[in-house]
Amino acid sequence: MTAFKTLDDIGDVTGKRVLVRVDLNVPLFEGAVSDATRIQAAMPTIRELSDKGAIVLLLAHFGRPKGAKNPTQSLSLVMGGVEDVLGHSVMFIPEAVGEGAKAGIAVLAAGDVAVMENTRFYPGEETNDPAFADGLAEIGDLYVNDAFSAAHRAHGSTEGIAHRLPAYAGRAMEAELKALDAALGNPVHPVAAVVGGAKVSSKIDVLRNLVSKVDHLIIGGGMANTFLAARGVDVGKSLCEHNLVDTANAIFDAADAAGCTIHLPYDVVVSKEFAPNPPTRTVNVHEVAADEMILDVGPAAVEALADVLKNCRTLVWNGPLGAFETPPFDTATVALAKTAAALTREGSLISVAGGGDTVAALNHAGVAGDFTFVSTAGGAFLEWMEGKALPGVDALKA
Ligand code: ADP
Ligand code: MG
Repeated sequence: MTAFKTLDDIGDVTGKRVLVRVDLNVPLFEGAVSDATRIQAAMPTIRELSDKGAIVLLLAHFGRPKGAKNPTQSLSLVMGGVEDVLGHSVMFIPEAVGEGAKAGIAVLAAGDVAVMENTRFYPGEETNDPAFADGLAEIGDLYVNDAFSAAHRAHGSTEGIAHRLPAYAGRAMEAELKALDAALGNPVHPVAAVVGGAKVSSKIDVLRNLVSKVDHLIIGGGMANTFLAARGVDVGKSLCEHNLVDTANAIFDAADAAGCTIHLPYDVVVSKEFAPNPPTRTVNVHEVAADEMILDVGPAAVEALADVLKNCRTLVWNGPLGAFETPPFDTATVALAKTAAALTREGSLISVAGGGDTVAALNHAGVAGDFTFVSTAGGAFLEWMEGKALPGVDALKA
């Protein structure tokens, strides 16, 4: 893994102003933080720096205010959530740069934690304007990035500032980068990838990248229908991007050339209606009727996929195998997730998963905690699966 500095390298921080980029983009319900997962993720870094006597200044964005101050997107709205998780009061500084920011910071003492106002209130954040990054660098002595979820964006608080102050990965960032490296950077082979979800079009780059990196590519979900159609299967009324059949064929060819085996379902669960608990049939893919939709991978295929995972040492998973929000079309996803979880517990598999619906599906299966690592980073996780460089990560490289 390319070397980057971590909190182990940061040295004496007593009384130093440490700018820590975190993810505070949390959901609010009736004025309160309704899911504090992202705040909790930043706690190890915040506590460690505070315990070592740093003045901890949290930088984050909240919503999409598009470069203008907007009271409905002020980070003051999440202060209650931050204080609840940290267990003590935290100061809010209503600016992120300039004299107002400096005046707020001047009253802080070693060990204090403060939240700076939404970085996206400043137009220079999203344009990565050097003047804005200079402004951020003026209010701090050191920079720590603990927000992998924002690292796919070259913004002032994620990229620009990292070139202006000594820069370090926080503990959550470090854990994420180590897990992703173990999954695709320098994985133990054989490696399997599960890619599911609704559409091929949203994951073409993911599929292209994976065929060159993994030994087994398991394609499920709605996107499998496009690959089945490319193989000449009549998928009836299923979700299918017929215009992407050429793309699917190109991915088959790239997989062949790279020695990657693509696994498609050979039995599927079909229904005439997309509704909870409708009448269903489990059929071979060649037996889908013209008025039926494929909504899940079938049990025989799931068993075969479980055998693939048993023979692999590493798994990376993005996208559910079926329309898991609607029972019983969660069956294949839950079953394969349980297999992956059991193999991980036994120590034979390193399992890394990410994606909004994927995390929801693993939670639904009750196994998210058994995976080696579950990324909640959404866009950044997908760009990493596409093999793209992440500017916020690259800027940390020593
Ligand atoms: P993630 O958010 O983890 O990246 P996606 O957003 O790509 O995942 O895909 C999740 C969606 O794909 C879910 O809403 C699920 O219902 C849908 N889906 C999966 N399989 C099918 C299918 N066979 N037909 C229609 N929708 C499907
Ligand atoms: Mg999704």
